[in-house]
Amino acid sequence: MVSFDNTQIAFIAKSDSDLNKSYLLFKLIGNPLLVKYGGGLAPLGLKLGFKGLIRNTIFKQFVGGENISDCTKTIDQLGKFNIGTILDYSVEGKESEHDFDACCKETIETIHRAKNDKHIPFCVFKVTGLARFDLLEKVSALQSLSSEEQQEFKRVQNRVHEICREAHAAKKPIFIDAEESWIQPAIDDLADENMALFNKEQAIVYNTFQLYRKDRLEFLKTSFEKAKKSGYHLGAKLVRGAYMEKERRRAAEKNYVSPIQDNKENSDRDYNLALEFCVTHLSQMGLCAGTHNEKSSLHLVKLMEQHGVAPNDQRIYFSQLLGMSDHISYNLTQAGYNVAKYVPYGPVKEVLPYLIRRAQENTSVKGQTGRELSLIIKEKQRRKALS
Ligand SMILES: Cc1cc2nc3c(=O)[nH]c(=O)nc-3n(C[C@H](O)[C@H](O)[C@H](O)COP(=O)(O)OP(=O)(O)OC[C@H]3O[C@@H](n4cnc5c(N)ncnc54)[C@H](O)[C@@H]3O)c2cc1C
Repeated sequence: MVSFDNTQIAFIAKSDSDLNKSYLLFKLIGNPLLVKYGGGLAPLGLKLGFKGLIRNTIFKQFVGGENISDCTKTIDQLGKFNIGTILDYSVEGKESEHDFDACCKETIETIHRAKNDKHIPFCVFKVTGLARFDLLEKVSALQSLSSEEQQEFKRVQNRVHEICREAHAAKKPIFIDAEESWIQPAIDDLADENMALFNKEQAIVYNTFQLYRKDRLEFLKTSFEKAKKSGYHLGAKLVRGAYMEKERRRAAEKNYVSPIQDNKENSDRDYNLALEFCVTHLSQMGLCAGTHNEKSSLHLVKLMEQHGVAPNDQRIYFSQLLGMSDHISYNLTQAGYNVAKYVPYGPVKEVLPYLIRRAQENTSVKGQTGRELSLIIKEKQRRKALS
């Protein structure tokens, strides 16, 4: 049975000096006050010339570099331990046609970079990198579009199609990330259209299912039925979901019932049921479990054993974010399971929102030492005892 307690395996890739740097960083971002005000101050820090400091600390822990070629070192380092890289162009909040075209081009570049590299098993993109948020909201709400908006949406469909076509030609599966529920219907339709086109032989295009939503387990099942009926494979990346507070706030403001589960237990229950559904329908599916949750990761290991699925079966991957939950990634890969890390990249300034979110996730709750930090401390103590 896989265990996530082995910190020697978890930090095998880290030298003592790397481990100390991670220790200091997680200690720093464990401070709620610092994270609360640091997030706001970081853009100012960049203007004041602290780019080098940010690049050598938090950026280094969680980001592959400023461009694709910068990421080579990370790709090779992870690859040495049999962990794949998923290059994630993490520039957010752009709203011009020029930026959308540039993001489409950049995503295609990641596919070309991945094409002949066995250490890059997937590519990924967000539809909000290719489309105006308000337009996606309008399409999702089935509001009528002006003729300019119709043309604008056609360009979005073309960009998504072009990316998926390239992924299919390169035989590199590609994830479409899930986002806010009020733009997700447009994203789901784009995913479905492209899965129908490119998933005839295997899952190339993957939609993402956020199990913190009450309706997504059912949606996973209907997506599968639709795929089966139309003769294509369903690509499913399962996550819990990243926009809980925003979802709840909007539902309260606009006075509708929140789509988010009433409590964490329900999100956990549906996540594990979704894993079960996928493992039992694997003949026509590809599955990626995007999670840092130990219980869900072990649940998937158990399900694979129960259903006689080999650990290295290419239809199942586990995935975590770079710089987080190495105890899960490295122990799983050591036991022969397929693992890939999201490796975000982009100019320091543009990746700041992503970094601030990572810092917030690792902030201590009521003074407790975070999971990452306690594992680092355990490994430091283990190494000290040996010396
Ligand atoms: C490889 C990878 C890809 C990802 N891709 C996406 C993506 O495309 N779209 C996206 O939205 N997110 C994505 N995420 C983020 C993901 O949705 C989670 O926010 C994050 O992974 C934390 O959840 P967890 O499963 O790791 O486990 P845990 O830490 O056990 O769970 C935390 C999550 O549980 C849910 N939760 C917490 N409290 C409650 C509560 N009170 N009630 C109901 N639910 C609750 C929330 O979703 C929260 O994020 C991705 C994560 C990874 C690792």
